[in-house]
Amino acid sequence: MTASLTPAERSTELSQRLQRVRSRISSAAAGAAAPTLIVVTKYFPASDVHLLAGLGVTDVGENKAQEAAAKASSVQAQGLKWHFIGQLQSNKAKSVVRYAAAVHSVDRLSLVTALGKAVAAEQARRTQAGEQPRADLDVFLQVDLREQAAGGGLSGAGASRGGALPQELAGLAEAAAETAGLRLAGVMAVAPLGADAGEAFARLAALSGELQRDHPGADAISAGMSGDLEAALENGATHLRIGSDILGPRPAVR
Ligand SMILES: *Cc1c(COP(=O)(O)O)cnc(C)c1O
Repeated sequence: MTASLTPAERSTELSQRLQRVRSRISSAAAGAAAPTLIVVTKYFPASDVHLLAGLGVTDVGENKAQEAAAKASSVQAQGLKWHFIGQLQSNKAKSVVRYAAAVHSVDRLSLVTALGKAVAAEQARRTQAGEQPRADLDVFLQVDLREQAAGGGLSGAGASRGGALPQELAGLAEAAAETAGLRLAGVMAVAPLGADAGEAFARLAALSGELQRDHPGADAISAGMSGDLEAALENGATHLRIGSDILGPRPAVR
């Protein structure tokens, strides 16, 4: 669909779509601090990341370890920050910490441990190789926002979109805060399918408040995609993850 466009035409298209999203953000965020816009480039080629960087985009998001690693190594854009936002297997931690500034999908203790080890190893490797040091990894704890029944079970509202249960957050936060190489940034969630995004993000904001009682610096809220960025901003989102409204509809699932 986009294959027939020249780079200049594609850049114009991306620029227009980016502009529309930015004006939606500024009308929804009116008054509040401007959120960080993470442009989700999954399924789109490295050439698009390059064009976006040229349009002033500073943060990009990817959700598949292999695709992200390949793209990050082929795009040499100064100061571009990569955010890993998809479900992550612990054995991919080593690869992800080579390029990612943040992981938004941390949902279990074993992943906290794996990321901590991987960052420490990568920091040591860069020191030895005389390369630029790697900063600590920003960790967002992903929460499953599906409504829980009184007994703790998840009531029928759709399939899991990843994430820890709300009652697991405090323990995960403690572990991340104590792990060298990691910086606990805050929480992340995807609105459950079929749920009211505003209600879901209000629950996320409350969980963020609880988290900040023990970890005052962990004030980031990563929430809001193309379809629900307004609801996310109304509920305090600091990081938006926007894909299709900027890149266009994703190619059919591979
Ligand atoms: C794909 C994806 C997004 C972007 O979704 P759009 O609806 O295309 O804006 C945001 N967050 C996560 C976790 C994703 O996987």
